[in-house]
Amino acid sequence: MRVIIIRYSEIHLKGNNRDFFESALISNIKTVLKEYQYDFARSNARYIIRNFDEEKLNEITDKVKNVFGVHSLSVAEEVDSVYDEIVAAALKYSPNFGSFKVSTNRADKRFPMQSMKVSAEIGGEILEKKPALTVDLFNPDNVIYIDIRENGKTFVYSQTIKAVNGMPVGTGGKGIVMLSGGIDSPVAAYMMAKRGMSLRAVHFHSFPFTSLQAKQKVLDLAKIVKKYTLRMTVDVVSFTEIQTAIHEKCPEEYMITIMRRFMMRIAERLARINGAGAVITGESLGQVASQTLESITSTNSVAGIPVFRPLIGFDKDEIIEISQKIGAFETSILPYEDCCTIFLPKRPVTKPRLSAVEKVESALDVENLVNNALNNIETIVIE
Ligand code: ATP
Ligand code: MG
Repeated sequence: MRVIIIRYSEIHLKGNNRDFFESALISNIKTVLKEYQYDFARSNARYIIRNFDEEKLNEITDKVKNVFGVHSLSVAEEVDSVYDEIVAAALKYSPNFGSFKVSTNRADKRFPMQSMKVSAEIGGEILEKKPALTVDLFNPDNVIYIDIRENGKTFVYSQTIKAVNGMPVGTGGKGIVMLSGGIDSPVAAYMMAKRGMSLRAVHFHSFPFTSLQAKQKVLDLAKIVKKYTLRMTVDVVSFTEIQTAIHEKCPEEYMITIMRRFMMRIAERLARINGAGAVITGESLGQVASQTLESITSTNSVAGIPVFRPLIGFDKDEIIEISQKIGAFETSILPYEDCCTIFLPKRPVTKPRLSAVEKVESALDVENLVNNALNNIETIVIE
């Protein structure tokens, strides 16, 4: 019978917490496979999927390999631990050209042949049937693995599909990601989900200054991010009143600095409301005027909880590479305006002094503006 072997990563290092990590991982695997029929079993430090529709094999492996915490997968033949059956399976998984070797692991010491002997014998059987092959023990093109389990069953496989690694989502606390329509923030969300964080998103839009397409683009990005975070809810916050107030009451070179502080305050409040312990942004040091150390200091100083910036040390090319890998790039580069691009000052301050920022900001009724924004949220659960 064909089966899928799932191996998990780092999580087995977690000692007493292992059950917590494993139950999150299993539940996440089941979430991505919810539309399929299959049997799921645990088998020492691995999971086995059996009795699935063979036509869905590739879909299933594609889904599972994107679940954080999964280290690798193999499609294997599971046979009774009987020599002839193992040989037949090994032949099926053997290549048609190039070099190979057989590698055997015998967990079941009742199996009458030692592992070296199994490898040698089965290697011989394969060579006999496929004389064009050569054996290479040190640098083979193909390895055929034979894993003789304690339960009287043997797995035979030849390929290992690399998965995403990381930690199971749900084991790393909860965060609010500030999701814009750009390239960076979806990547930042991916990076935190990779470390096991559950995420919820906040997006600021400035309808009617920004279009409904701009908002839809963010929801499309949220849907892409959800492939990795497994669940996603977006709080869409109307930023129009705040932007208008800043535009009216503050010098234009401080527009962005003060906008950022409002975004951060609202994100923090949403974190507290939703039981989240951190805010995540897509900032990268020096990328633009609002991402200098001084600008980040001014934004950070209004946050009372940790702010994670997983891209802080990344170059744009590196961010784009991940964006492409996670399938977000094409959507991110669609040309809809962001709320940050309206009222853009000609010469933004690049090194705002905190005391100056606070003074400028004192022209505004901050608390009232924040509360109004929080009372005007559209919450969208991404399906
Ligand atoms: P991105 O590509 O993620 O939009 P960026 O390079 O355009 O980033 P900025 O516009 O300076 O950089 O934004 C920095 C970070 O602030 C973003 O990565 C995002 O986390 C957050 N942010 C910016 N605009 C918004 C918005 N409209 N709604 C929610 N978060 C935002
Ligand atoms: Mg942006």
